[in-house]
Amino acid sequence: MKPYREMSKEELASLKEQLTAVYKEYQGKNLSLNMARGKPSPDQLDLSLPMLDVLNSKSDFMTADGDVRNYGVLTGIQEAKELMGGMMDAPAENVIMYGSASLTLMYDTVSRSYTHGVMGNTPWCRLDKVKFLCPVPGYDRHFAITQFFGIEMINIPLHEDGPDMDLVEQYVNNDEAVKGIWCVPLYSNPSGQCYSDEVVKRFANLKPAAKDFRIYWDNAYCVHHLYPDHPCHVLDILSECEKAGNPDMVYKFGSTAKVTFPGAGISAIATSKANIEDIKKQMNNQLISHDKINQLRHVRFFKNLDGIKAHMAKHAELLRPRFEAVDEILNRELAGLEIGQWTKPQGGYFVSFDALDGCAKAIVAKCKEAGVVMTGAGATFPYGKDPHDSNIRIAPSFPSLEDLKLAAEIFCVCVKLVSIDKLLE
Ligand code: PLP
Repeated sequence: MKPYREMSKEELASLKEQLTAVYKEYQGKNLSLNMARGKPSPDQLDLSLPMLDVLNSKSDFMTADGDVRNYGVLTGIQEAKELMGGMMDAPAENVIMYGSASLTLMYDTVSRSYTHGVMGNTPWCRLDKVKFLCPVPGYDRHFAITQFFGIEMINIPLHEDGPDMDLVEQYVNNDEAVKGIWCVPLYSNPSGQCYSDEVVKRFANLKPAAKDFRIYWDNAYCVHHLYPDHPCHVLDILSECEKAGNPDMVYKFGSTAKVTFPGAGISAIATSKANIEDIKKQMNNQLISHDKINQLRHVRFFKNLDGIKAHMAKHAELLRPRFEAVDEILNRELAGLEIGQWTKPQGGYFVSFDALDGCAKAIVAKCKEAGVVMTGAGATFPYGKDPHDSNIRIAPSFPSLEDLKLAAEIFCVCVKLVSIDKLLE
């Protein structure tokens, strides 16, 4: 295929005419398709239904920490800590169980630092300036948390092997106002990158100017391999930080949101003993215990990490054809035109698409007019501002395969039309 920018104005105009006819045909179908949010499909959710039957009125509710039906056990039952520790690559004694979503946990972590400070340091609310580093493109809900607390967010380019570490070191090691960085180290949202060993080691060896600087290591996709026989592996940041003499520098977050049920899973934080003590001081005033019945349900259903892996292999069977269909259609329709690039993730929930500069918003709007809802352009950047207006997040998990293929085809027509307009400007 000839790159669009090598075409004459006449060639582009005639192509536009053909594509507009195709687009109008799609519009006439009154479609309602959605490639916006990274939700599991109903057939994925069905996989976890048997978990709802593992506890019933005849079950034994006793655990190492007593009866899960009653109050108590602030940091969660031992069996759940072992299960989540296995998933998050951390010893059970370094784990605190939290509620049904890791976002609450991340929000609470920022909130506690803001109102009460980290391990005796000045609460962030008393400082003139607090900054967070944000590898981009990234997860909009991370950015929403820090924006809500008025924390200044700084874009850090995300490369194939992780964030630009020269820039990370420059900020963290020199600016005391930099208190954190959002990271999704395995199958990042949205581009699917996995951090290399070198990047993890450079993180562990940071020399932060701020004593209360923490790495927010969101392990949301740690068992979400599309090709379970060839999983990406990321070095354990907790033990690397310990080796580097920075044992308290990282909070690892995880949940079973996209393992069992989003919003009804279990979540956990893995961190140093000192951080755990610091966190418990707040938790003690917040609640008596999280939902231990749900913790036990997960433990009995999965038994151990192997149980989780077997379950996730079933998810992969359902997700893989969807990801492969999107890649196939993008390749068939756009390869060689030089109007877009996209990632081919080996896991996680998203594909990241980069259009020509200045085109993302117009593509998303054009998709919408043809009945295809995409994540809002800009959402993958702090403050919703993509400086190049080029990144679009594609979420292939939720629609049926048939709907997804149609949505991807319409998306490609929109990319072509908007790119032609750009080149004709
Ligand atoms: N972290 C990342 C990187 C995500 O992509 C998502 C969901 O899309 C979450 C966290 C949400 O997790 P939870 O449902 O446990 O709050």
